[in-house]
Amino acid sequence: MAGDTCDVCGRPSVRVASSSLAPISWAFCTDCLNKPAEPLCMFAYLFDDVSDNGDGLREEINDYYTFKDGAYLSWSDYIKQRRKAKNDSHYRRLQGYREQNEGRPKAGSEEIQVLKL
Ligand SMILES: [Zn+2]
Repeated sequence: MAGDTCDVCGRPSVRVASSSLAPISWAFCTDCLNKPAEPLCMFAYLFDDVSDNGDGLREEINDYYTFKDGAYLSWSDYIKQRRKAKNDSHYRRLQGYREQNEGRPKAGSEEIQVLKL
């Protein structure tokens, strides 16, 4: 992850810093550090695995941006896109997959961590 390019936008990075949203570090460029912006995968993680369809997070999440399709995207605009995408057939297939796998250990869960040792 940490390298010569910003993990958020892909431009040259200036430093590695801790995410403000989860215990992980990313390479950032000056613009993304100052925004503040987080990688798109962080927003996806928060939407899919932490929040309730984008709701239920601390209000501070509204201060954050991600970078998608060459532009910064606020949390509120991100969740609008995600909620709209729920009507797409791809999303419905994904939901079907999730329902089939309900109850199985999830990536990053304690069960999976034990299996890795
Ligand atoms: Zn950047």
